[in-house]
Amino acid sequence: MRNIYDLTIKELEEYLLSIGEKSFRSTQIYEGLYKKRLSTFDDMTNISKDLRKRLSEDFSFYKIKLLVKQEGDNVNKYLFELEDGNKIESVLMFHDYGTSICVSSQVGCNMTCAFCESGRLKKVRNLLAYEIVEQILIIEEDIQKRITHVVVMGIGEPFDNYDNVMRFIKIINCGKGIDIGSRHITISTCGIIPGIKKFMNEEGQVNLAISLHAPNDELRSKLMPVNRAYHLDELMETIKEYISKKNRRVTFEYIMLEGINDSEKEAKELVKLLKGINCYVNLIPYNETENIGFKRTKEWKILKFYDILKSNKINTTIRKEFGGAVDAACGQLRANN
Ligand code: SAH
Repeated sequence: MRNIYDLTIKELEEYLLSIGEKSFRSTQIYEGLYKKRLSTFDDMTNISKDLRKRLSEDFSFYKIKLLVKQEGDNVNKYLFELEDGNKIESVLMFHDYGTSICVSSQVGCNMTCAFCESGRLKKVRNLLAYEIVEQILIIEEDIQKRITHVVVMGIGEPFDNYDNVMRFIKIINCGKGIDIGSRHITISTCGIIPGIKKFMNEEGQVNLAISLHAPNDELRSKLMPVNRAYHLDELMETIKEYISKKNRRVTFEYIMLEGINDSEKEAKELVKLLKGINCYVNLIPYNETENIGFKRTKEWKILKFYDILKSNKINTTIRKEFGGAVDAACGQLRANN
């Protein structure tokens, strides 16, 4: 049986037409699901009894289960169990501008980035759209607040699960549903070029972030095996194409790893690589984990790196820290469970 949260409104319309119903019922159902947050079809009293019965024969509701919640300062971390027993996690952050959620897109990940905990747990499968949608619904219910921003930056590589992630975005972006504006949604990729190429042809203004982490092929290939398939020059060409096509700024994420990618040399290489590109750089203090040997760059050195970028007119921010206390780095809660 298909999960009702897996359908875009267009698919719901098509389904309704296929069973001889009027397509505008899709609006009533979507509003029932996402505005009123009804969790049975029987509660949708504005549609006929017959249709309610038919819907409950054809679709199911919530299927993921909240297992563990950890609360920290301005951050909550959630562990969920899926129908098949697999576990996924999401992180919720409270900002002055709203609340953002970082959702997982896969169970495990195949990208094997050297510094990342998720990569230690190989990909088991892709998440379906409803499994990501439900992360949002359950957490909103928990905090009794609207989630205003979504980043697809949890466990998994979203462009290795392209169709389901796009379906998820269509569902949460729909004005008759959860209604999260596309400019408030960000997808982060390790640099899968065919995914970026497809993504630039999608409608809407969803933000793109690239996990860069190194300014040259030699180092990047060591840290991120994906770079052996998609080299930096080709990646940068694709990103330029994306920027000019969408007329959007791209974010580059750069984890600061002590003694690995954080010297003046790398800062200057990064300046050269990004000069003239409409972008932000987000310097991320590395979240150390027990199981991996990398260390976080000292603060003064992060600031020095930052200064070099800034003085060369590269828009740069240092990521505010969240979640050290709650295993918030990718995959840590799950790995420790
Ligand atoms: N696969 C996608 C999205 C998931 S990873 C991507 O690579 O972008 C989300 C971000 O968290 C990436 O930038 C990743 O490099 C970073 N990350 C992974 N482990 C981390 C850690 N221990 N500390 C800080 N950032 C980490």
